[in-house]
Amino acid sequence: MAYQQRNGGRPNNGGRSGFNRGRSGGGSRKGPMKKYINPSKFINKATPKAEEVPYEPKNKFADFPFGNQLHHNISKKGYKLPSSIQDQAIPYIIDGKDVIGIANTGTGKTAAFLLPIIERQTGISLRPSVLIIAPTRELAQQIDEEFRIFSQGLGLFSALIVGGVNADRQIRDLKRRPHFIIGTPGRLKDMMNRRYLNLEHVNTLVLDEADRMLDMGFLPDIRAILSEVPRDRQTLFFSATITPEISALVNTFSKDPVTVSVRTSETSDHVEQDVIEARDKTHKVELLTDMLREKEYDKVLVFGETKFGVQRLSDHLDNCGISSIAIHGNKNQSQRARALKQFKDGRVRVMVATDVAARGLDIPNVSHVINFDTPQTYEDYVHRIGRTGRGGASGHAHTFIEVRAVRR
Ligand code: AMP
Repeated sequence: MAYQQRNGGRPNNGGRSGFNRGRSGGGSRKGPMKKYINPSKFINKATPKAEEVPYEPKNKFADFPFGNQLHHNISKKGYKLPSSIQDQAIPYIIDGKDVIGIANTGTGKTAAFLLPIIERQTGISLRPSVLIIAPTRELAQQIDEEFRIFSQGLGLFSALIVGGVNADRQIRDLKRRPHFIIGTPGRLKDMMNRRYLNLEHVNTLVLDEADRMLDMGFLPDIRAILSEVPRDRQTLFFSATITPEISALVNTFSKDPVTVSVRTSETSDHVEQDVIEARDKTHKVELLTDMLREKEYDKVLVFGETKFGVQRLSDHLDNCGISSIAIHGNKNQSQRARALKQFKDGRVRVMVATDVAARGLDIPNVSHVINFDTPQTYEDYVHRIGRTGRGGASGHAHTFIEVRAVRR
C-alpha cells in the first residue's frame, strides 16, 4: 500500500480533507511532556507465535472445593479448565491467604478472585463483606457482570458504585446491604464520606489493576477507603507490573502475601508493526480515512491523545461512511458501555479511544490497532498493540508519526 511507509519512507502528498482545517500544524500541546520514543521501535516484521504451548493446569475446576451451584455456574459460563492464574491463585485464596497476582487483562484474573471469594462468602451475614476496587467504571462493571453470573442461585448480591452515573440508585442499592461492593475509588470514597457506605464488616478486599489505579492518581482515595476497612481481612492485589510504588502499597496493606505471577511476556513480536509518516494532523486524517475504507480493516481500534480529538476523529470517520464510535472520559458510564458493546458486537468497525478509557477493558481481538497519536510511553505502546494478534491470530499495528517531529 502506497501510504504505508516502512522505515525511512517518504511522506505522501495527498489532497486535503476538511477535518481540522486551520487547526493543524503541530501547535503547542497541553499536558505532560511525552517521552521520546524512537520510531524504529514502532516497526516490526511479525514472527508467528508458533511454539505457544497451551497452559496445562494442575487442577480441574472439579478439584476446587466449591459448592454444587458454583460448579454449575462455572460450567454454564462455558469454562472448561482453569486458566493459569486461576489454577495457581485459587488454592491460596481458598486458604484465606493474602495474594498478589501479577496478571494482565485477558488472563482470567477476574474469575481467579471472584470464584473463591464467592465460595467463602456464602452464608456470611455481616455485610457488606467484600470490597472490590477497580480503576475504571468499565472494569468495575465487567467484574460486576461476572459476579452476577457466578453468584446465580447463591443468594449473594452486589452494588456497583462508580462515578458518571446518578447516585440515587447506588444509594438505594447500598441500603439493601449487599454482600459485594464493586466500585471505583472516587465514588466509593464519596459514598463513604456521605455515610451511605459502611465498611466495618469487610473481610475481603480486592485491589484490581493496582498499577493503573496508582497511575491514575487514586492513591489518596484508596488510602482513605482502606482506613475504614478492618485490618483483620484477606487482601488480594492484582497488577500487571510490580513497581516500587506497588510494593509499598502491598507492604502497607497486606500481611505475608503469596505472589502468583502468570504475566506472559508481553512481547509484540507476533504483531506486524509499521509506521506511517504524515506531514501534519490533516494529512494523518486523510491517510487514516483512506486506509479504513479497505475491507481488511474490519475491527479497528484507533488511539488518540485527547478526549476532544478522539470524538472529532470518530465523528469524521462516521461522516465519511466508516462506522465508528468514540470512547473517552467525557462520556458517561452508560454511553461508554454502549459504545464498547457496539464495537464488540461488530455494529461499528472502528472504535477511537483514549488510553485511559481503553484501560482494563475486555476488548476483543481486533484486526488492527492504529496509533493516530503516538503514546506517552513505550509501555503504553505495548499495551495498546496487545489488543491485536491475540491467541495466535495475526495482528497489525500502525503508528502515525508526523515527519516534522522526527528527530534526526
Ligand atoms: P479477564 O482476564 O478476567 O478479564 O478474563 C478474560 C476473558 O477470559 C473473559 O472474557 C473471561 O470470561 C474469559 N475466561 C476467564 N477464565 C476462563 C476460563 N477458565 N475458561 C474460558 N474462558 C475464561
